Amino acid sequence: MSDEQPFISKVPYEETHPTVLAIYCSDGRFTDGVEDLAQALGHDRIDTLTIPGGPALLNRWVADYLESDVVTRAARFLIEGHHITEVLLLAHAGCGYYRARHGALGPEFIAEQQITDLRHAAEELHKAYPHMTVRLFFARPGGGRIHFEPVPAKA
Ligand SMILES: [Zn+2]
Repeated sequence: MSDEQPFISKVPYEETHPTVLAIYCSDGRFTDGVEDLAQALGHDRIDTLTIPGGPALLNRWVADYLESDVVTRAARFLIEGHHITEVLLLAHAGCGYYRARHGALGPEFIAEQQITDLRHAAEELHKAYPHMTVRLFFARPGGGRIHFEPVPAKA
């Protein structure tokens, strides 16, 4: 045991699990914004699944298969174990994951691929959990704020 006192957070602890899961990129510039969005949608607390690229990793056809498998299992674990009723899938402008993979193809191609990946992820989730609400957003910084643009699930 260390002699140091534990840090006690001023944030209250609630025993019950949140019912919404947000799947998004680890990029910390968007973390607070995503929580703010969730609050605006009526969710004070969220479960999170963050990994570079976010919902891109739910697209097995594009992402690395093993990575995708891990993320898909993690999503299912949370959805089933925590009785999630709503999932938020978020992509963001200037994502390093996409730049590293598709940078040479230019920002327009990347944005298109991100939307495709969001829709693919939504479709997979809908197949597995037909009664769950899935919302898609594209986060875009502008004027010092983050704009969360809703993306229709189908083109
Ligand atoms: Zn990113």
